[in-house]
Amino acid sequence: MSTKTYDIVVVGGGTAGAFAAATAAQQGLDVVMLERKDEEDAGHIACGDAIKGTSTFPDVIDLDYLREESFTNENISRAMFLNPEGENYDVPFGDGGGAVVDRKRYGEVLLEEADRVGADIQYNTVVKDVIQNGRVRGVEAIRRGNQVTYESDVVIDAAGALSLLQDKVDFEGTNYDTNVDYSQFCSAYREVIEIPDPIEYDDAIVFKPTEELGYLWYFPRSEREINAGLGFQMSEPPMPLVDVLKRDLDSRPEFENAQVKDKLGAALPTRRPYDSAVAPGFMSVGDAAGHVNPTTGGGIPGAAKAGHWAADVAADAITAGEPTEAALWAYNHRVQTDFGKRFAAMDLYNIFGSAHEVDELTNIVTSLPGQAILDIMGKKGELTLSLPEKIKTVATTAMNTRGHWDTLYEAYRTNKLASRIKNLYNRYPTGPDEFAAWRDERDALMDEVYEVTGADPKY
Ligand SMILES: Cc1cc2nc3c(=O)[nH]c(=O)nc-3n(C[C@H](O)[C@H](O)[C@H](O)COP(=O)(O)OP(=O)(O)OC[C@H]3O[C@@H](n4cnc5c(N)ncnc54)[C@H](O)[C@@H]3O)c2cc1C
Repeated sequence: MSTKTYDIVVVGGGTAGAFAAATAAQQGLDVVMLERKDEEDAGHIACGDAIKGTSTFPDVIDLDYLREESFTNENISRAMFLNPEGENYDVPFGDGGGAVVDRKRYGEVLLEEADRVGADIQYNTVVKDVIQNGRVRGVEAIRRGNQVTYESDVVIDAAGALSLLQDKVDFEGTNYDTNVDYSQFCSAYREVIEIPDPIEYDDAIVFKPTEELGYLWYFPRSEREINAGLGFQMSEPPMPLVDVLKRDLDSRPEFENAQVKDKLGAALPTRRPYDSAVAPGFMSVGDAAGHVNPTTGGGIPGAAKAGHWAADVAADAITAGEPTEAALWAYNHRVQTDFGKRFAAMDLYNIFGSAHEVDELTNIVTSLPGQAILDIMGKKGELTLSLPEKIKTVATTAMNTRGHWDTLYEAYRTNKLASRIKNLYNRYPTGPDEFAAWRDERDALMDEVYEVTGADPKY
């Protein structure tokens, strides 16, 4: 048994962990990143690998190198919705399209870069417990069969969805969000497949609704290499993911003679970001704090930003003295007033969806104009249509959705509530003292959401 001491211990070498470790190292702190996988396998993560918003990645690593090495398809300019009931539906991205990456290489470059800027990376190191005495003071791990204690001022939990660390910390007396349940997660699976002939839609990310409140997707890494995957919300009955994907692949001529190059499954959060992701000496980032867009499952940009902000705030708190909850709170504020408010707003559509059948939603979605879907899914979490567009939407939708008008009215009211929730998150408190009052106001708004949608409470 040995003991090592650092300023910051980061648990997990995914996107969030790598950006946290790189940021801490760039600030001159002594930082170690602990990753349970071996060096060969690190960076191998279940993901669709589609990224929107890469321009917002923190520049604590060499982003040009990351792009050159791992961005295999930078031509994504539209989302295509496959409609089982009728015509497919195209949504152009407009400015600032998207990319699909080689996820393994992307993960490797992040780790290389964290190492290059000065973080100590320890592979084959499984964190088993936290050390807590007044505040979190480090972790206990098994490294290559030996027990090692890592002491630190701050532990950054970047261990992914359903992080083990959160079962170990005693959050009593803090505002850390413990209202977390498996039903707020999605079980997902993806394969990387290679096909003999190029596909026509290598400029599109493709979605298709499935039963059990999920979707199936095809994201082209290149014109002959496709990420194919699907997931279901864990509040619904389980879906045989591998079989359902195989059936869909078999039904599509472009995937004839496809070869599976890789397969992996994982859970991902489809909930609002944690209300508070800090406790004395402890911060959670990325999937470990619910930093995933709950309608698209996109979590890479949120993980990168959260990792960066957490280390930034931790560095200030360490310099100032004690890493108390109040000293780390600025991180919560950055998250919630940035992508947090958007994801919290999108979560309302997820809740709305849970109260309706997939067929009905498909019908409604295909009758909305592209800008509406883009606004909801990609950027803002609420509609930004002009008045003439709104009128056109109402008219078209009315024609196409006869029989679903009650649902449509619910969707309209949900949209209004999404707008209100974003405003509320703009007023997220700057310190823990005002947090309880803010949360009461938010919870009252959520009660309205459940009343309007008829959905069971998610939280
Ligand atoms: C099937 C699927 C498809 C997805 N598609 C997309 C997509 O197309 N675009 C997108 O933006 N996002 C997508 N996501 C989400 C995205 O992959 C995640 O949001 C993102 O990887 C989160 O990064 P992270 O660093 O928080 O966690 P992770 O990438 O999960 O990293 C956590 C790390 O912690 C390590 N770890 C865990 N426990 C311990 C422990 N006890 N000790 C030591 N190490 C530990 C793990 O080995 C892992 O390396 C998808 C997710 C899934 C499951």
